[in-house]
Amino acid sequence: MTSLADNGPIVVVGGGQVGTLLTIYLARQGHRVTLYESRPDLRRTEIGAGRSINLALATRGIVALSQVDLYRRLEPILVPMAGRMVHEPDGDVGLQPYGLDEDDVIHAVSRSDLNAILLDAAEATGNVEIEFDLRCRGVDFERRTLTLSDHADERRREVPFGTLFGCDGASSDVREAMHAVNGGTSVVDELDHGYKELNIPPGRDGSFQIEPNALHIWPRNDFMLIALPNPEGDFTVTLFMRNEGDEDSFAALDSEADVQRFFHQHFPDFVELVPDLTDQYFANPIGRLSTIRNTGWSVGADAVLVGDAAHAIVPFHGQGMNLGMESCRVLDRIIREHPDDLALAFTKYEADRKPDADAIADMALENYLEMRAGVVDPAYLIKRELALELERRFPDKIAARYGMVMFTTMRYAEVKKRALLQAEIFAELTDGVADLSAVDFERAAELVARVSPLPAAI
Ligand SMILES: Cc1cc2nc3c(=O)[nH]c(=O)nc-3n(C[C@H](O)[C@H](O)[C@H](O)COP(=O)(O)OP(=O)(O)OC[C@H]3O[C@@H](n4cnc5c(N)ncnc54)[C@H](O)[C@@H]3O)c2cc1C
Repeated sequence: MTSLADNGPIVVVGGGQVGTLLTIYLARQGHRVTLYESRPDLRRTEIGAGRSINLALATRGIVALSQVDLYRRLEPILVPMAGRMVHEPDGDVGLQPYGLDEDDVIHAVSRSDLNAILLDAAEATGNVEIEFDLRCRGVDFERRTLTLSDHADERRREVPFGTLFGCDGASSDVREAMHAVNGGTSVVDELDHGYKELNIPPGRDGSFQIEPNALHIWPRNDFMLIALPNPEGDFTVTLFMRNEGDEDSFAALDSEADVQRFFHQHFPDFVELVPDLTDQYFANPIGRLSTIRNTGWSVGADAVLVGDAAHAIVPFHGQGMNLGMESCRVLDRIIREHPDDLALAFTKYEADRKPDADAIADMALENYLEMRAGVVDPAYLIKRELALELERRFPDKIAARYGMVMFTTMRYAEVKKRALLQAEIFAELTDGVADLSAVDFERAAELVARVSPLPAAI
């Protein structure tokens, strides 16, 4: 049996949000950690055109960040979003609050600002050495060495490891090496929709051109735009759309005229906010979206996967990073529960986490339909209203799925199970019902009586 302290050098590969947060957790357990990141240090590198890419931070991420005393340091760079601001094709705009409680907010945060704070905090522990511009090119599990080299392959070297944490993202090289020795599998499910990032600049006086404290959505059934605020007054916008197809697809928009026609037809209010729309459209790449379900997250006490390397999901629930941060917290706890048996800790961590990762992967896919079509569908809206009303009447039994995912740390698998049961109840109660006043609340009470009380948060 092996403990983390006795197993030799601790190496983390990948300095994204998950790798750096995990490094902080390990350093706070008193371990010395070396982190290798393939990109240059973003704190010392000019990032192109000053456009920020942002993410939604929710409770699961906040709880993990708070546990290592980092959340307070992030607060100045967060922009709270209290609901979805839905932009309809006819120009109508309306806010759908995320929950009943005014604390039910998610937070927009710049990916690079967040990573910079995490890197600073890792170094500040005094237990961490970070080496940038060094990519892991291979892992030899017999000799327990990593091969690293820089972009130009000039600084190639081998380094020993005792325990290796693979946090190198969705197309993890560490995972590939691990699967070659542990027989693990990866199932990649690529969506036929991709994404492109755009930007709404600040107004002339530097202020936000649209409401800052909301996540804006322009749902158009088969495609959608979303916009998240940045503290500098601009918005990071993402267009999600089919990759292929003769109409309303990335493949179909290949000239300036097509792009102008498409945006004027579907998003006329958005066009007014972005003077250089076509330039942005053609300057920015199309991103691919995949769910990657893996088995074989560890190799004995030698290596383990964390974050997107273990579980990559599509971004429609804004949970990939939150899930990864929560995985850091769970792994930290399980390692501390099994101080003398690291291999057992890693096995337990996968057994604990995989059902939850699979559940949020499914819910994230389902949420795409909800965002691009559901939020303006009368059948969806009445169910949503009923969900909130039942939550008000039966707070210990009913909670909207979105809230359980975003504002609790309830296990994702439990959220999915409860949400399915609730969906059946909402469907029965809203069958043939046009508004809330026509709902049979006596029948609702009978149905809700069959639901088990909401579990205590983990
Ligand atoms: C469009 C979009 C929007 C999203 N929005 C949200 C959101 O709102 N909320 C949310 O919670 N999640 C969101 N996500 C998901 C989120 O971005 C990821 O889940 C999260 O960044 C994963 O963090 P990570 O550290 O595991 O991986 P990454 O952030 O991918 O970090 C991996 C790091 O490893 C480095 N690396 C890769 N290979 C090697 C190697 N061989 N050697 C050394 N280093 C290596 C990379 O350079 C990178 O720095 C979104 C994703 C997309 C695509």
